[in-house]
Amino acid sequence: MTQEFTPKTADSQSSLTPDFLARALEACTDGLFLFDSDKRLIFANQQAESLQANVSRLRIGSRCCEMFWNSEGGENCVVDRASQNGLKLEFEIPGSKPLSIQVQPIQVSEDSNKLGVLVSAHDISALRRAEGEALAHKSFMANLADRSPDEIYALDKLGRITWVNQRAETGNPLMLLGQRLVDFIAIDSRDVVSAGISKAVAGEETQTEILAVRPDETERDVEAYISPLWKDGEVDGVLVFLRDITERKRTQELVSQSDKLRAVGELAAGVAHNLNNSLTVIKGRAQLLQMKSTDEGWLKSLQVINEAVEDGGKTLRRILEFARRDSGQGFGPIELDDLIRSSIEIARPKWQRKAGQSPIEVKIECNGPVYVKGDQAELREVVLNLIFNAVDAMPEGGLMEVGMRGEIDSGCFWVADSGCGMPPETVARIFEPFFTTKGSKGTGLGLSASHGIISRHGGEIFAVSEPGEGTRFEVRLPICDTLSRIIKNEEKVGV
Ligand code: ADP
Ligand code: MG
Repeated sequence: MTQEFTPKTADSQSSLTPDFLARALEACTDGLFLFDSDKRLIFANQQAESLQANVSRLRIGSRCCEMFWNSEGGENCVVDRASQNGLKLEFEIPGSKPLSIQVQPIQVSEDSNKLGVLVSAHDISALRRAEGEALAHKSFMANLADRSPDEIYALDKLGRITWVNQRAETGNPLMLLGQRLVDFIAIDSRDVVSAGISKAVAGEETQTEILAVRPDETERDVEAYISPLWKDGEVDGVLVFLRDITERKRTQELVSQSDKLRAVGELAAGVAHNLNNSLTVIKGRAQLLQMKSTDEGWLKSLQVINEAVEDGGKTLRRILEFARRDSGQGFGPIELDDLIRSSIEIARPKWQRKAGQSPIEVKIECNGPVYVKGDQAELREVVLNLIFNAVDAMPEGGLMEVGMRGEIDSGCFWVADSGCGMPPETVARIFEPFFTTKGSKGTGLGLSASHGIISRHGGEIFAVSEPGEGTRFEVRLPICDTLSRIIKNEEKVGV
């Protein structure tokens, strides 16, 4: 398609021969189309020809619109526009092989105002492909960052947030940008985080456990990994990865609580077992002496020994019961509604006695029937322990709420009081054996025994309390599957 090209200006320059110019245009990597002042094609190089897939009907004498727009001109004719107003135009022709087109008006000769037009077409498919790949890569990275189990914060060197991933829990991401990350960290942990950021700016990494603050101002345990953000071999900012470990810590505490209880239980069981053996011997000998003796004084003393041994045996049985960690087999379906109501009846004298001075109002909320797997006597002991503690916490009277409800796979009951409440350091120790704040009036065994019973039942017991705001104990137990199913079916058929 190459045509003879005779530039009029070339004559005056000895080395710039038309032949040389034509070869130079031919060697150009862009497709070149030259239009005369009649807007007819007078030259196109090889490159232009290879772009023919996009540019149809390429032939000398064609008008631009016929090639680029497949039309007979009009408003869209870029060559028309360029030659009329003398302005350079740029546009893109999309397609499988996208082209960047530049339309450049050129004065036909020195002594003429007529404008020809040079159209150069540059194949930008590689550029678009690279852009597409960069975009795909970017969206892959964004996806990766958002799906990360960690919250990720990018900071500038002053510790201000410049980017967060979707997991960031500290609040609305838009609100976070520009703010200092340390402002979302609990006061006690701020120094550690600031030091970590400074280290990261100096190129070092830090891993630590800290307390962060949720948007609702509650605190959470997080594992923080603070590292430098590199750019061209220099630290350009800081990356902070936060992983919420509140639940993990809670579980660890529960496990260590259970371990402690188990250890104490085993120790107690061992001691009780040995003492029991000694008591059996003492009891046997005392009874033997009772049979042989006729002396009133001796007999009375032996009777006292016998009774003391009997009492000691009872205490030991209680300790053994407390330490018992087996069972689970033989648990029957327990109707929670009934358990709660009957326990309240048994405990009633405990607060009715106090009614004269300071009334305790009791509210019962039973949404039954719900069946859990368990041992009636043991579970009653738990309910009674909780009720007794609630009454103890309200010497000036108050409100006690006892209730139950069914959940998808558990039955839940609670005892709440409006009493003195507990500070966090007490809450942390309530399930420890022998922990009591009631002096000689308390044994510190009620809640540890209750914890043991509920654990044996495969359930969970926890307390929510604030000093002066009362306390709420909640217990969750595995639901008794079979019975619940039967009941649901009965409900369906309207029994
Ligand atoms: P005890 O009742 O013999 O002290 P528990 O194991 O039943 O032992 O309770 C341990 C401690 O937990 C109590 O001494 C008390 O400090 C605290 N506690 C338990 N229940 C409550 C409650 N409802 N309100 C306030 N404190 C409570
Ligand atoms: Mg108690």
